[in-house]
Amino acid sequence: MPKHSRKTRDVATDARAELIRALPPIDECLRAAESNAALAGLSRSYIKVIVQRAQADFRAAILAGRDTHPRDRDAMIDAVVRAAAHAVAADEPMLRPVVNATGVVLHTNLGRAILAESAIEAVAMAARSAVNLEYDLETGARGDRDSLIEDEICALAGAEAATVVNNNAAAVVLALNSLAEGREVIVSRGEMIEIGGSFRLPDVMAKSGAILCEVGTTNRTHPNDYADAIGPQTALLLKVHPSNYRVVGFTSEVTLEDLVEIGRARGIDVMEDLGAGALIDLTEYGIPHEPVVRDRIAAGAAIVTFSGDKLLGGPQAGVIVGRRAAIDRIKRNPLKRALRCDKLTLAALSATLRLYLRSGDLGDELPTLRILRRGVNEIGAIAPRAREIVAERLGLGYAVEIVDTTSQVGSGAMPVEELKSVALRVSHPEKSANAIAAMFRRARIIGRVTDDSFHLDLRTIEDPTVFAVKLETD
Ligand SMILES: *Cc1c(COP(=O)(O)O)cnc(C)c1O
Repeated sequence: MPKHSRKTRDVATDARAELIRALPPIDECLRAAESNAALAGLSRSYIKVIVQRAQADFRAAILAGRDTHPRDRDAMIDAVVRAAAHAVAADEPMLRPVVNATGVVLHTNLGRAILAESAIEAVAMAARSAVNLEYDLETGARGDRDSLIEDEICALAGAEAATVVNNNAAAVVLALNSLAEGREVIVSRGEMIEIGGSFRLPDVMAKSGAILCEVGTTNRTHPNDYADAIGPQTALLLKVHPSNYRVVGFTSEVTLEDLVEIGRARGIDVMEDLGAGALIDLTEYGIPHEPVVRDRIAAGAAIVTFSGDKLLGGPQAGVIVGRRAAIDRIKRNPLKRALRCDKLTLAALSATLRLYLRSGDLGDELPTLRILRRGVNEIGAIAPRAREIVAERLGLGYAVEIVDTTSQVGSGAMPVEELKSVALRVSHPEKSANAIAAMFRRARIIGRVTDDSFHLDLRTIEDPTVFAVKLETD
């Protein structure tokens, strides 16, 4: 935004307040809407929702300084109703496709992993048809929905048994509740994590009914800290992968192997919340190292939980793998019924797991891996075309440059490792980076502002024509 003197800014603020005050009340807009032909025949409650949204859009546009035309009351009502009619004609649900040019590959707020084609087809099939979700086709008896994915997960994780719930947060709650309700769970203070969306481990544990027993310090925890804390009430030793941060410097952490040994000597199982949970060694794809589920099971964890929509590249889900006896207790827990996945999730997960088992080159078929492994040369190859399209859409006054940048895996995975990438830096002598970001957002292109300038990170862009949209450049 151009720099204003204090006086002009106050005048502008007053004018906005005036326009907001002039917005007609919803009742008047509704009365006018009832006689609008485009809205005729629609239910009153639907019209109300649409008119309220149209009015909210006007308020937002005025506040953002985009709508500055004073109108009389009738013209205002007319404008709101016309916007509502337009929205009805467009008939768009609230969940809409957007272009992720943030450079964050697994962006939680943008829906994390993009599914593989075979998973998308499986979801469509399950949506359209009755399926053998809990039905044994051999005997005609009731089946177990976990059996649809259990063999595949066990094969990939090298585990005896597996089950799956709504997400990894649910997996942690369910596992703790099943294995440690009313008893103690020992966890290092260095792993007392909060991840996005106020998922705090201590709070989750409290809800699970397990009693948290913290040991060690933020930066250093030793084997004896765990061993000394084990008592008659101890149910589990818990390890949490500190997904979204790293403790660096004077640090010491007890390895899973050591923890398993400490537990074994006292008859206590070890559970690990792995967070992102890679099913394969990602370094083979040139992606930084993340712990692999199979290795954690091999190291002796009795239970490992991880997300389905992070590095696995599937639908939102929480996968629990481990020893048969522990998984059986988890499956028998009534909470499992409340947290179970639906047929769409299981269809997508099953198809994604089959890719892992069958694919010659997973990086070709699984979008998450394909995008993560793109090198700067590959990303840079589309930059000139992307630049051309964006510059053409922006018109005169804007500068669009190709710059080096770094993108992120996202969703808490590998927070420190950055992926080299290429971006378009968009600037204008009189517009702030935030104003440019807002303009792109209105065209549903989500970029990011770094170092005071707006960037469209091309790591997550495989087709530059997604930028061929109408931009309100004013
Ligand atoms: C992401 C994460 C979770 C939560 O997983 P969701 O699938 O988002 O519920 C829990 N623990 C760790 C360590 C994580 O990284």
